[in-house]
Amino acid sequence: MKNRKHLFFDLDNTLWDFNKNSREALLQLFNEHHIENHCGVSFEEFITVYENINHQLWEQYSHQKIAKSELRYQRFYQTFQFFKYQNLALSHQWADDYLKISPYKTHLVEGAMDLLHYLKPNYQLHIITNGFKEVQDIKLKQCLLEPFFQTIIISEEHGVSKPDKQIFELAQELTQSIANECVMIGDNLEADIFGALNAQWKAIHLAEHAASQLNDYIHITKLQELKSFF
Ligand SMILES: [Mg+2]
Repeated sequence: MKNRKHLFFDLDNTLWDFNKNSREALLQLFNEHHIENHCGVSFEEFITVYENINHQLWEQYSHQKIAKSELRYQRFYQTFQFFKYQNLALSHQWADDYLKISPYKTHLVEGAMDLLHYLKPNYQLHIITNGFKEVQDIKLKQCLLEPFFQTIIISEEHGVSKPDKQIFELAQELTQSIANECVMIGDNLEADIFGALNAQWKAIHLAEHAASQLNDYIHITKLQELKSFF
């Protein structure tokens, strides 16, 4: 792997601790708007339902079945509705507030900063992310991640997202690299790993549990493990 000079990282839940940051932002909104009273649930129950709904809506969004504008508020509208609380206006307000609050949260995935310091002198580091443009930029700046990366590719700006092969080809073009110099590191098996493999890149899956028995990519459970490959 040491001959692979271009390392492409996913952002959410690979470097930026999306789950933790998102929960923190939602807890803030949950308390501010007295959702415990309106919905009759604890935050834990609420967030479990929300994360499920959000995941399903992101799936639909990534397959172009719903628009970004719908995803933004529907995830809250449907969660409220699940708890028999109808409030379209509040769903729209949360859509705005959530995107205002969450990108300013700065929890990183364990070992992220240390790893980037370790890799930076010998590799060209880049980002490929499917997140929303207006929040990804803020996250990178707030967490002081930006200086580590030579190229930051936000799929929304290019009209094509992971796992589409085109985004990996675009990444090669932008970084003037060839497929066998590139490695993708990410937490999403379909978008990051299968996408990269399909573009003839190497891929490293960051996940608590191995997702399959396939041998064509590497599985790690902690970011620190990457050091042994580079
Ligand atoms: Mg991710």
